[in-house]
Amino acid sequence: MSEFEVPVLVTGSQGRRRRIGIMGGTFDPIHHGHLVAASEVLSVFNLDEVIFVPTGNQPYKQDRDVTLAEHRYLMAVATASNPRFSVSRVDIEREGTTYTIDTLRDLRRVYPDADFFFITGADVLPQILGWKNSDALWSMAHFVGVTRPGHQLDTAGLPPEGITLMEIPAMAISSTDCRNRVRSGIQPWYLVPDGVVQYIAKYRLYRADGNVGSDRMVVSDDVSARAVGSSGHGRDSHADLTGQRKG
Ligand code: NAP
Repeated sequence: MSEFEVPVLVTGSQGRRRRIGIMGGTFDPIHHGHLVAASEVLSVFNLDEVIFVPTGNQPYKQDRDVTLAEHRYLMAVATASNPRFSVSRVDIEREGTTYTIDTLRDLRRVYPDADFFFITGADVLPQILGWKNSDALWSMAHFVGVTRPGHQLDTAGLPPEGITLMEIPAMAISSTDCRNRVRSGIQPWYLVPDGVVQYIAKYRLYRADGNVGSDRMVVSDDVSARAVGSSGHGRDSHADLTGQRKG
């Protein structure tokens, strides 16, 4: 076991600070690997909740086609049957490029007294040293890198006390594979929640004909009402999305 791996149950106590997982990702689309990862981190770190935060404009993806943020957000909402999971709009509503430092600052305003655990793909973590305000990140959250089975990670330069790596077998599922299946005409049943299969079909996402979702989409209130729950951040009316943009 490396110094980055801490597969021990962190026990909590009554009256302790709230422990919140922040699951940052593109989620294009969200899949069962993400959900299992969030659930595993929640139990290993004894978290109170996990907030999924779909990215807005990710700095390393500005020249790539990413599905509309609103679609990615709504697919994430469609999975929020776990009462400890919610989905936030903080990144998709902030103007400009999505930086994790801004995600953490925005959520800190909502949860001034919580301990944060930023959960993301482990292969993203080696890039952290080049992220905006990277020095400040370590004091704002503990970072949990979720790895796929057999994945080797270069952790050179990363502070062991700031990061934990967790191998999640279910992360053998990948968003790229889900998109490729749909492009080949195969529905990703059982790789993503049923509601996400239906959402992909309804909005014709990831299709070989290049249609990555309608330019104009109206989101019904019953869907938006299920977002986020009571935490207050990110709940919004997001009815009329016009124009296609990078996610
Ligand atoms: P990505 O390049 O789409 O994903 C990299 C790898 O990590 C993929 O294998 C992906 O698998 C996996 N992954 C992504 N999010 C995950 C999650 N929450 N749990 C488990 N696996 C995950 O990475 P990204 O989604 O663009 O970025 C991840 C997070 O890092 C976002 O919150 C983003 O804002 C942040 N970030 C910040 C900066 C910055 O502040 N400068 C720069 C880059 C990224 P799947 O494709 O199957 O999801």
